[in-house]
Amino acid sequence: MLDRSIRDQFPIFSVPELKNFAYLDNTATTQKPLRVVERLRQFYAHEYATVHRGVYRLSQESTEYCEETRRLAKQFINAKKLEEIIFVKGTTEAINLVAKTYVKSTIKKGQSILITEMEHHANIVPWQQVCEETGAVLKVAAITDAGELDLDSFKSQLDASTAFVSLVHISNALGTVNPIKQCIDLAHKAGANVLIDGAQSVAHERIDVQALDCDFFCFSSHKMYGPTGVGILYGKYALLDQMPVYETGGDMVETVTFSGTTFQKPPAKFEPGTPAIAEIIGLGEAFGFLNEVGLDNIKAHEDELLAYATEKLSAVPGLRIIGTSKHKSAIISFVLDGVHPHDAGTILDEANVAVRVGHHCAQPVMRRFNIPATIRASFSLYNTQKDVDQLVAGLYKVLEIMQ
Ligand code: PMP
Repeated sequence: MLDRSIRDQFPIFSVPELKNFAYLDNTATTQKPLRVVERLRQFYAHEYATVHRGVYRLSQESTEYCEETRRLAKQFINAKKLEEIIFVKGTTEAINLVAKTYVKSTIKKGQSILITEMEHHANIVPWQQVCEETGAVLKVAAITDAGELDLDSFKSQLDASTAFVSLVHISNALGTVNPIKQCIDLAHKAGANVLIDGAQSVAHERIDVQALDCDFFCFSSHKMYGPTGVGILYGKYALLDQMPVYETGGDMVETVTFSGTTFQKPPAKFEPGTPAIAEIIGLGEAFGFLNEVGLDNIKAHEDELLAYATEKLSAVPGLRIIGTSKHKSAIISFVLDGVHPHDAGTILDEANVAVRVGHHCAQPVMRRFNIPATIRASFSLYNTQKDVDQLVAGLYKVLEIMQ
């Protein structure tokens, strides 16, 4: 297991009122290590200037810091080219960008887009919109009672009409780790390109986009110890080059006249306006942090916590885990007999335990399991067995009060 010094790098855990704080909502967003917070402070206090436009030193330096984040992102997911890394606001914007440019401009009426039943709303609604606008059909691969992707269902929906496949790497509602390499290969065999929603995987598993051979991959900085407001869209260069532009404005153009405009090549083509400069620089620091701790160490730590928490939670009377895949990330969704998740969440909060309750922006998953909501505990590199024990003790308190 990772040692205590990791937790000590996160200032939130030394706030006096949060001394015994079991923060178990890491799927929603992670806390920030001091080095990320300090990097933001340093930039705003001593280095602040815009990017790209300035000939003065401070602006050249902030441009260089942002480009360093691009280099770190390329390395982190093993992209082939620097130009394949696009700064976006987050996973949601990345999926919308691909849906509304690449897919909308290439898909034809009657063709289909394949997603799965375990997608986050961010990986459902943009595709529904594209289908409505183009006459394409949205197909959905089923999930099993264990919350695993039903590969037979996935395969049976893939055919010559499939134009695009978009699927989540790790489900935020169930913790299921999907066999994405297999899905990507199957999709390519059927002639479809693939986007992988990596929002829940990038801080937990080693990603190699070249080995995966996915066409697009996206993730959000705030779920990997970086600032909010920034994320990465990776796309194969040939696709990015051929795609229409998304939002337009300054910085992404070559020449503008009143009779027309020519655009820059990727990545600038997809980065209009003043970017989230400080956040991009903070994201670079988060990559540095993850590289230093090491993804293999993080995965080993979280796997151990998952096993411990699964065992302890399974012993709580009336508790049923939703999502029991053989391949899981450190996310446990569960329901308690006779207790509404929101009541449980409120009582746990009083016990200094932060969990997420609700549908987790995955209403179809809730419908699949015939439940309105779950209680979700999700773990990260700074969590310990003590956090799990605190959660379990809190759940006994919930049972005491509610039953
Ligand atoms: N996909 C998944 C699997 C997620 O968990 C989330 C965030 N909960 C998103 C997409 C959307 O990410 P963001 O809100 O950072 O754009």
